[in-house]
Amino acid sequence: MALKQVRMQLGQTYSPLVNGEFVSTETQADSVNPSNPAEIIGKVGLLSQEQADQAIAAAKTAFPQWQATPAAERAAILRRAGDLMAERRSELATWVMLEVGKALKQADAEVSEAIDFCHYYADEIERLDRGYDYDLAGETNHYRYFPRGIAVVISPWNFPIAIATGMTVAALVTGNCTLLKPAENSAVIAAKIGEILIEAGIPKGVFQYVPARGSTVGAHLVKHPDVHLIAFTGSREVGCQIYAEAAQVQPTQKHLKRVIAEMGGKNAIIVDESADLDQATQRVVTSAFGYSGQKCSACSRVIVLAPIYETFVRRLVEATRSLNIGPAEDPSTGVGPVIDAKARDRILQYIETGKAQSQIALEMPVPATGYFVSPTIFIEVAATDTIAQEEIFGPVLAVIKAENFDQALEIANGTDYGLTGGLYSRTPSHIERSQREFAVGNLYINRNITGAIVARQPFGGFKMSGVGSKAGGPDYLLQFLEPRVITENIQRQGFAPIEGME
Ligand code: NAD
Repeated sequence: MALKQVRMQLGQTYSPLVNGEFVSTETQADSVNPSNPAEIIGKVGLLSQEQADQAIAAAKTAFPQWQATPAAERAAILRRAGDLMAERRSELATWVMLEVGKALKQADAEVSEAIDFCHYYADEIERLDRGYDYDLAGETNHYRYFPRGIAVVISPWNFPIAIATGMTVAALVTGNCTLLKPAENSAVIAAKIGEILIEAGIPKGVFQYVPARGSTVGAHLVKHPDVHLIAFTGSREVGCQIYAEAAQVQPTQKHLKRVIAEMGGKNAIIVDESADLDQATQRVVTSAFGYSGQKCSACSRVIVLAPIYETFVRRLVEATRSLNIGPAEDPSTGVGPVIDAKARDRILQYIETGKAQSQIALEMPVPATGYFVSPTIFIEVAATDTIAQEEIFGPVLAVIKAENFDQALEIANGTDYGLTGGLYSRTPSHIERSQREFAVGNLYINRNITGAIVARQPFGGFKMSGVGSKAGGPDYLLQFLEPRVITENIQRQGFAPIEGME
């Protein structure tokens, strides 16, 4: 039903929203279905640099009033947006499925996450808005949070609704005027977020939808002297560049910018000799190949203790072989497409590198139409091999053998990243040690390592996986706020003279 409805709307044009108006643009880009690139999901108008400057100017004008809007009113807009998303749930999941090639069940979970972000951050701002008071005889001290100003949100395509919504509504609910620059491959879904925020009552200039080329106009927004905060999720390469560029103080700029950058991972699951292998095999397959490995949390290394290595590899290869490769909309599909031709070619290049350095244990035929890459398993991989060190962001899994648990932990921690990690074990001392020594932002014990839920598993990493506090957690909104302390001496000072009474 939703699929039919959405298909009837394919190919429409989506224009940027600047100061409450949909503006026409000189350039447009097609967003296509990765399962079938001939199917155009939408045509997206791309903002020029001059239009980006106009959007910043509009945000600046809108800021004083948005800042003065009570937190409860801002929170109410988020709750309405969450409710509207819930009403349009199956339609939104269908857009996700078609635009970025994600299986419907996972697309639906992503819509739930977006809804959760709206409600969670609404509750959070109400908690923070109370501030802290420290009153003494004759003196009051109020600790209160204020918005920073103008926020630019730069989002990735792989969680096109959850991440774009989460970063955007966090910036908005904290009183910042916010520009959403989505990834080029998921700009149609981002336009839907815009539709929902408008319907929920967001004022003009407070939220603006600014699809644009990341490397040009995105970079221009990052450098803009009137921008206070950049909330970015994406690759390490772009994140590091944004971090460096935002640190440069531009002429007329009177503040330092805050950067939140959530970046990649090279996530490992350790399987020790006491693990329940049925469970471990199944969940490693889900963690590695769900959404074709295109999750920042995906498992791309599995570190297996020597006594069970052979058995585990045999089961892993068999379980993976049973996955169907096909279009995302086919309910029997286990592995869908990757996002575009560039990503496919980059992943295939890594597979060639893997073949040169280690041994391939599984590669399967893929459909001719669409951007498909086979789930691929390499065995006998050395911990220092390229495919065991670099984020591939595709369905490629490196199996690494460890002689003992010490070595397994050392290998697990031996990359530049620290995002997610997992352990399959029934040995209490291993479980306990992993909690202290496995250096990741989100550690999962005896379960799959993807699918974090807002508030239950606040999400984010450290090292080269990012800088900032966890999304969907109690510290997240603090990054969008500036605390101020107001101290007042309230001892009687005499009365101010009233005119005419002297
Ligand atoms: P990407 O870095 O290519 O693009 C992300 C965004 O940055 C896009 O909107 C893009 O247009 C924009 N951009 C590109 N160049 C820019 C520039 N010079 N200045 C400003 N903006 C620019 O990443 P992607 O391919 O969209 O996403 C995949 C990556 O995201 C993976 O590395 C993945 O691990 C990471 N990711 C991390 C998390 C997390 O929570 N840590 C979550 C999802 C994805």
